[in-house]
Amino acid sequence: MSRFRDLALKEMGLTPLWVPRQAAAALPEVSHAVLPLAEVLPVPAALVAAPLAQRRQSVPHLPLHLLTHDALRDAVAACTQCGLCDSRRQTVFGSGPLPVPWMFVGDGPGEGDEDEGRPFTGVPGRLLDNMLAELDLRRGRDVYVSNAVKCRTPGTGRPEASSVLACRDWLMREIALVQPRLIVALGAVAAQLLLDTDAPVGSLRGQVHRRVFDGRAVDIVVTWHPAYVLRKLSEKARSWDDLCLARELLSGTSVAQTLPV
Ligand code: SF4
Repeated sequence: MSRFRDLALKEMGLTPLWVPRQAAAALPEVSHAVLPLAEVLPVPAALVAAPLAQRRQSVPHLPLHLLTHDALRDAVAACTQCGLCDSRRQTVFGSGPLPVPWMFVGDGPGEGDEDEGRPFTGVPGRLLDNMLAELDLRRGRDVYVSNAVKCRTPGTGRPEASSVLACRDWLMREIALVQPRLIVALGAVAAQLLLDTDAPVGSLRGQVHRRVFDGRAVDIVVTWHPAYVLRKLSEKARSWDDLCLARELLSGTSVAQTLPV
């Protein structure tokens, strides 16, 4: 069981959960569809700038699955579902055309991203842009770019599992709005969340995974986060191979086997 599912079950008071091996083999496939239950917090833009305590008290409740892209961004801007809301200067929401076949999901915003309020700025962002350009893709025109976690994590920059879980529904709704045919998971946090696994990037990359979001099957290709590639340039060639695999998938020329849910 992954730590994300483990945390969710714990939140619901359903742990410990024991499943006999024979029964586990017969379990149905897991769908990552958007949960219809979430009562969340879309807010008027003016409220986003309001003091935190006021935001906590004043947000109206609407079902997550009814939120437009703008309403979702406003709701995320007012979100207080995990402790990262206390240290953030602003949330970092995804951007790009809607709907669009290509979606890139990173782990979480860095300091520069938080300053600018958009994902993948600075040197890692430029590396991503350069690799996209090699594929004849451009941000804002051909791809939607976002993060698994919408607030910056101070210190190491790697979000805690509890924050990833708290932020999960925002990403699920975002995916439902983007309607991608393919998601490229950039980094371990994004990959493990999207694939519900604890496996490292090295064992997930180089293959095609398939998941169901909001009733739609979406292929997922995993690769390293650009910031990691910059620290470990020996992985640049593999990262490029992964993006080429993604391009072949969308152009229908890939011969890679898709790993189902
Ligand atoms: S990280 Fe996500 S869940 Fe946590 S406060 Fe920010 S938007 Fe909300």
